Amino acid sequence: MPFQVAKSLYVHIPFCDGICPYCDFCKVEKSTHYEQGYLKALLFDIQNLGSRRFDTVYVGGGTPTCLEDDNFLRLLKALSPLLEIGGEFTVEANPESLSEAKIAMMKENGVNRVSIGVESTSRKNLLFLGRKHSFDLVKDRVYALKKAGIDNINLDLMYGLPGEGLDEVKEDIDNLLSLSPTHISTYSLILEKGTDFYARGIKEGEQEEVADQYELINDLLKKSGYHRYEVSNFSLPDKESRHNLVYWENRPYVGLGAGASGYEDGVRYRNTFSIPRFNEGKRKVEEEKVDRDSEASYFLLTGLRLAKGISLKEYRSLFGMDLLSNRKEAIDRHIGLGNIEIKGDRLMVKEERMILLDRVLVDLI
Ligand code: SF4
Repeated sequence: MPFQVAKSLYVHIPFCDGICPYCDFCKVEKSTHYEQGYLKALLFDIQNLGSRRFDTVYVGGGTPTCLEDDNFLRLLKALSPLLEIGGEFTVEANPESLSEAKIAMMKENGVNRVSIGVESTSRKNLLFLGRKHSFDLVKDRVYALKKAGIDNINLDLMYGLPGEGLDEVKEDIDNLLSLSPTHISTYSLILEKGTDFYARGIKEGEQEEVADQYELINDLLKKSGYHRYEVSNFSLPDKESRHNLVYWENRPYVGLGAGASGYEDGVRYRNTFSIPRFNEGKRKVEEEKVDRDSEASYFLLTGLRLAKGISLKEYRSLFGMDLLSNRKEAIDRHIGLGNIEIKGDRLMVKEERMILLDRVLVDLI
């Protein structure tokens, strides 16, 4: 199987102003000492990319905007020349650290998409989630971005909080819509081991209630012109995240920074989570040479998250197998149950059954 060249770059900034009690990402509380060493190590890796150019560059975290101004600027200056003309350059931001100065730096260095961790618009739920901002601040920062000419904006929202009602979710969505973002990502609260919430025995919202909230979010956003192109992601037409589509379409990408993963030349890898070790030059700690079968599984695992599903023809040409005959029994059963459908060359999970995606995947893989 010929390997595609990676045309997407992910860069991880693991620092945050504070640690949220539900977070299991690769992150640490901001420390100027580690930040200097980290930037040095990261810039070295960026330099090593040489003359490579990327269609999408995504700086995620952690909280990239909590970097010191001079470090933030150095990072953007190093990444900006790597972007192809017409490329998508995204930076994740938290409202508190999305200062006027940082917005100006982003604009000057070609950032054309910003993803803001809003999470909730209610004071009570923000407090519960350990977030320090208010929705008024989010409004203010979205206006500032638009004023600076960055209007491709994603807003992240969490739902499925314990005891959260449908009215609260509706209010969140209405509030987000009032800011006219181009993209909205929604995530239900998942209690992961090792988090403060987990240790405190906090419970996720009831499954049925969470499913109702998911449906409500889908309905409200659909009525407002946003289409759900992936399980948790909604966008206006042509405003899908080009970078995240690379993951879901199982295309290769380069990952730089602590905790970042990548996929190149048929190898999936992950870098060390340890910032001191990363600063000392340690990089990959996991590498998996992907064989044809696991590649075929990844293809289904990621592709079926998309509303458009997967191309049966592409599956056949990539893996030399016919999915419909290989998984005939499972496919027939899920078609019979109304969970999946085939339209032309594409097999997809039905929109109203996306909540059952995991069940479909277990049977198909
Ligand atoms: S949720 Fe975001 S801001 Fe909070 S600790 Fe995790 S990465 Fe940092």
